Amino acid sequence: MDTLKSKEVEARNNYKCDLCGGEIKQGEIYRHSTFVDDGIYSFREHSHCHYLSHKLKMYDKVNMCEQGLDSELFEVIVTEDFKDFFPEEKLSVSDMAFKLYKKLGE
Ligand SMILES: [Zn+2]
Repeated sequence: MDTLKSKEVEARNNYKCDLCGGEIKQGEIYRHSTFVDDGIYSFREHSHCHYLSHKLKMYDKVNMCEQGLDSELFEVIVTEDFKDFFPEEKLSVSDMAFKLYKKLGE
């Protein structure tokens, strides 16, 4: 799978983040990537989810898998790391990702 392009752009509509499943709101800056495999695929992610995927080295963990990073693996890794910092809290994946980003990004 090759990356044709990957860059931060302003959302022209409301989208769903392909990592956390949360909403990317119109006007928000997010990362849009285009991949080519046996077709062309679009991948949209919050900038903070993109940051987390690298910060938590998620791509190292999926290198042995064929399909790359998906929302299921993202959820597993975010949930585990989130529990280390906030063992008592129960949030949606999307909220956990944002809170973890705030914590790790400082
Ligand atoms: Zn997200």
